Amino acid sequence: MFSKILIANRGEIALRVIRAAREMGIASVAVHSTADADAMHVRMADEALCIGPPSANDSYLSIPAIISACEITGAEAIHPGYGFLSENASFVQIVEDHGLTFIGPSSAHIRMMGDKITAKETMRALGVPCVPGSQGGVPDLEAARAVAAEIGYPVIVKATAGGGGRGMKLARTAADIDQAFQTARAEAKAAFGNADVYIEKYLGHPRHIEIQVFGDGKGRAVHLGERDCSLQRRHQKVLEEAPGPAIDPATRARIGAICAEAVARMGYSGAGTIEFLYEDGEFYFIEMNTRLQVEHPVTEAVFGVDLVREQIRVAAGLPLSFHQEDLIPNGHAIEVRINAERLPNFAPCPGKVKTFHAPGGLGVRIDSALYGGYVIPPYYDSLIAKLIVHGRDRPEALARLDRALGEIIIDGVDSTLPLFKALLAEPDIRAGDYTIHWLEHFLAERL
Ligand code: ADP
Repeated sequence: MFSKILIANRGEIALRVIRAAREMGIASVAVHSTADADAMHVRMADEALCIGPPSANDSYLSIPAIISACEITGAEAIHPGYGFLSENASFVQIVEDHGLTFIGPSSAHIRMMGDKITAKETMRALGVPCVPGSQGGVPDLEAARAVAAEIGYPVIVKATAGGGGRGMKLARTAADIDQAFQTARAEAKAAFGNADVYIEKYLGHPRHIEIQVFGDGKGRAVHLGERDCSLQRRHQKVLEEAPGPAIDPATRARIGAICAEAVARMGYSGAGTIEFLYEDGEFYFIEMNTRLQVEHPVTEAVFGVDLVREQIRVAAGLPLSFHQEDLIPNGHAIEVRINAERLPNFAPCPGKVKTFHAPGGLGVRIDSALYGGYVIPPYYDSLIAKLIVHGRDRPEALARLDRALGEIIIDGVDSTLPLFKALLAEPDIRAGDYTIHWLEHFLAERL
């Protein structure tokens, strides 16, 4: 096992990794920008090193600074968290070239899944059901028109390098395809430096269901059921739950087995998420994320496992600590993402947190780097806290969420907390009856 690991991240996810490391007897190294000198991850780690100015490009994304920090502190492995360098295949290669261990999958798997056209082809070949669409990339307008006509409208043009919902354009009819194709390409080029796009059937009322998988890198893999992440704003998740309200045990076992088998055959190592759209009882693969997800705690709650601990173990070459037959979901968990954003427009609003009071009690978990007096810097993601509740069943989880939302206090900055209180009053939410479009409609009509 490692004796010291470095966390190439900040905020709540850095704390999450430090906590797992500490329970395993592993020393932790935090890195931070000058803007984060007072951040909680700096205080909580065993050691901390400043790696650059506020701009993430010059600090949390600076590969030379992070490698140097490992060399200075003697850290043997790097946990990337999510975002930043977590899905950067060349970073992984550089880490390995320096004799360090990347806590995550191989650079080859990251590269393969980071290119969505290749990811889809790989998954299709492994027997995973995919959204009907173009065979590979669509090179020009003429091909786009032909492919779209063949699939049937509506279609969605998507960037192969896409992420965070960018580079995606809907064409409802043939009249929209030219513009959708051109703008998707332009957006992809600007955001990712890669204009390549592909085309998919646009599904009208799907849910977003994702399967948590875990591989040992040696051909063994398991799945840890699904999360329903359908509640999205601008393709960004807002609330996630496990199990999915629309998924029964037989469906879970079926799709879970397909995913675990695919990951085993790939020789995949560590945590991963296979994302699907789910409509009329069918699953359609959209992408695979080769990292720990923001919403991993709902899976931890229902399966009673520590996914970060497992990531560290597998990276150290140990076998998986659970078998598929041990993995039985228990109860129901819901996570809400509390962002420092002002409703109704979700405008980021960094600033000084005057008071922070965390909710507690049975079945309540809060993953947050906030503290009273902390100044949220304007340079990074606006996620300030994840509130996760676990109950014996969905009604109990909802009641607990309601109760915890009544206890939490974040004073001094605006946050998305009022949104969750409003959502809990909605009959559709209480019934678990929503698709990927539900939240956008609700926001347009009600907020
Ligand atoms: P990104 O990597 O940018 O997040 P994804 O491929 O994961 O892109 O898609 C993000 C979201 O966009 C999905 O959760 C879903 O809401 C919507 N979406 C993607 N593909 C389709 C599709 N074929 N039909 C309908 N909605 C889609």
